[in-house]
Amino acid sequence: MADAERIPGFNTLAVHAGAKPDPTTGARATPIYQTTSFVFDDVEHAASLFGLQAFGNIYTRIGNPTCAVLEERVAALEGGTAGLAVASGHAAQVIVMQTLLMPGDEFIASKKLYGGSINQFNHAFKSFGWNVVWADPDDIASFEAAVTPKTKAIFIESIANPGGVITDIEAIGKIARKANVPLIVDNTLATPYLCKPIDYGADIVVHSLTKFLGGHGNSIGGIIIDAGTFNWSRDKKYPMLCEPRPEYSGIVLHETFGNFAFAIACRVLGLRDLGPALSPFNAFLISTGIETLPLRMQRHCDNALAVATWLSQRPEVAWVSYPGLASDKYHALAQKYVPKGCGAVMTVGLKGGFEAGVKLVSNVKLFSHVANIGDTKSLIIHPASTTHKQLSDAQKIQAGAGPDVVRLSIGIEDKEDIIADLELGLTAK
Ligand SMILES: *Cc1c(COP(=O)(O)O)cnc(C)c1O
Repeated sequence: MADAERIPGFNTLAVHAGAKPDPTTGARATPIYQTTSFVFDDVEHAASLFGLQAFGNIYTRIGNPTCAVLEERVAALEGGTAGLAVASGHAAQVIVMQTLLMPGDEFIASKKLYGGSINQFNHAFKSFGWNVVWADPDDIASFEAAVTPKTKAIFIESIANPGGVITDIEAIGKIARKANVPLIVDNTLATPYLCKPIDYGADIVVHSLTKFLGGHGNSIGGIIIDAGTFNWSRDKKYPMLCEPRPEYSGIVLHETFGNFAFAIACRVLGLRDLGPALSPFNAFLISTGIETLPLRMQRHCDNALAVATWLSQRPEVAWVSYPGLASDKYHALAQKYVPKGCGAVMTVGLKGGFEAGVKLVSNVKLFSHVANIGDTKSLIIHPASTTHKQLSDAQKIQAGAGPDVVRLSIGIEDKEDIIADLELGLTAK
């Protein structure tokens, strides 16, 4: 039957993947299974669930049917084999690394990352004995030069937050394959609507669902997607995946679960033992948000390009960093990796420096002054007077948060209203 063989398109998957009408009630929307635990059929059923011989629900810290809809949906959109939803983007990164690294191991990370990830890698991860080695995405050879026998993974962002850096995923993927370590791509700013890192060699994709996937600024969440591409057993470098697990009567996860073993390891070892589970209510809000992801992302991109073009012609503006602009350093990479648009986030340098930044965030009315991105609403922040206030000027500039820099996350309002609001802020006395 031709219909059964048809592979649904991205818009269809965004609405339907992972979900079906509730078999007991007929409810068309996915129910919020707001329960901590699930009744076993009998003692044998319970034993088979606990022994990983059968799939099923036990306890919401390990899995929940509302969260499962979200996991299947994002895995389908990214082209992965399985997903694991967790409490935040940062929790996703902890669980991925805890599954891959032992104390004393290293991972290579792009130095152009979300500031929260730079902090997490430099401080929290070091206290676990996981050592980050920084590389420069503008110098691909620096990734290869950073590989040592202790390297267990490479971590990059597809579009880096906030500078609008487009990373050459395919080139770094080749380095990861040569080193036989997985490539992890944080795809938060692009979302699978704009870019699917697995097509370019990513083995693991992580997201902060808090941003564009949820899309409405109402829930914190994160997800891990297993591409199913990595051979965990080849060099015996990943004991969580290729050695017998004493807590599951000697099962070897890679042997038993094949191309979704990484997602299983993250769930039955990482999430089970570390505990940052996503609430079913947040999973419901985020899955509902994803239904409109393609529509919202296209509007975010179209509005952002219009705003970036307008800003780049303003006398108050020294520079605009947005890869959608033809003059941007990353424009050629953007045409390869994000041809439909470059997302909503840009940074802007103001000629008037620190005072001009404070004036702009203080005088806009439609924009909200918040530490977030990826809302339907337009958002603005002046890092030098807020998130990066404690740093010296030199450190601020190094972090891409110099005194003149303002970060914008363009919403899905009418672009004329967004531009009029920025004009108000730029020209205020
Ligand atoms: C926000 C963000 C994170 C962290 O996600 P949380 O949900 O806030 O924990 C990680 N990576 C990127 C690119 C982000 O923008």
